[in-house]
Amino acid sequence: MFNVFIGLGSNLGNRTENCLAAIEHLSDFTIIKSVSSFYETEPVGNEDQPRFINAVAKVNTLLSPLNLLNSLKTVESQLGRERNEKWGPRTIDLDILIYEDFQLDSQELTIPHKELVTRRFMLEPLCEIEPWLEHPTHNKTMSTILKELQDDREVVIVGNFYKNN
Ligand code: ATP
Ligand code: CA
Ligand code: CA
Repeated sequence: MFNVFIGLGSNLGNRTENCLAAIEHLSDFTIIKSVSSFYETEPVGNEDQPRFINAVAKVNTLLSPLNLLNSLKTVESQLGRERNEKWGPRTIDLDILIYEDFQLDSQELTIPHKELVTRRFMLEPLCEIEPWLEHPTHNKTMSTILKELQDDREVVIVGNFYKNN
């Protein structure tokens, strides 16, 4: 089984329910190990859109990175993601943040996620569940990267909606 961290985001419709529904779908092809609190966050890029709910899930899976990406895209369309405008509003966005210590760099899939180290809305929830995780290319723990991060966009915990076992 491979250890994977998946970033979830939603800023259309019932954002919390969308994230919970996505986790439910994830459990069809992964084992959910833990899920962070849900955070309300300022959007990136186009700031003229609703705030996001973001969270990070730690999962185990046997799927390869590309097969996992394809499964995530299927879940996104099942949950009604339509507009594919870069950084536009969406019912659900599922990104692979970390896949073991794999490094991949193609247009279709870059691992670790290339913006992980620049985004508070990804690092805060990730550090909540796995602060000592080493970043495969930066050779620092996630908590060190978060401490050194310069990202002023607001990230606020709104609750713990997924009940970890
Ligand atoms: P960002 O990548 O900055 O978070 P985004 O999530 O809004 O932007 P999307 O429109 O959801 O971008 O995805 C565009 C493409 O990015 C996807 O079709 C996918 O092939 C590719 N991609 C590359 N690396 C990853 C990754 N680590 N996780 C998910 N998708 C990725
Ligand atoms: Ca994204
Ligand atoms: Ca995405």
